[in-house]
Amino acid sequence: MPIYEYRCNQCNREFSELILNPKGIKKVRCRYCHSRNLNRLVSSFSVHQTEESRLSNFDTSKTRGDEFYKDSRNIGLWAKKRTKELGVDLGSKMDEIVEKGRTGKILDDYNK
Ligand SMILES: [Zn+2]
Repeated sequence: MPIYEYRCNQCNREFSELILNPKGIKKVRCRYCHSRNLNRLVSSFSVHQTEESRLSNFDTSKTRGDEFYKDSRNIGLWAKKRTKELGVDLGSKMDEIVEKGRTGKILDDYNK
């Protein structure tokens, strides 16, 4: 099941949508304003990249723009790398936070 990223032309927000079947693509609406005026975004990151190579290629000193977060797998990467650099081991707690970010649960919390 593919996950597609969209940007809403109405409210300019981005969200990802799990497409359960091809017919579902046409039914996608903006998560925030329910507009159908959407642009599908294409991830600029290779799907074959492993988490290890993502972490090592990832430069925490660079600013991360919209491009970066089009790939939901990059959410939490910065925090993970930073804690590694600082020698902080948050262990499973960190993974939990990252996992939440990737599944969009953090965003849901923000929108409350
Ligand atoms: Zn919208």
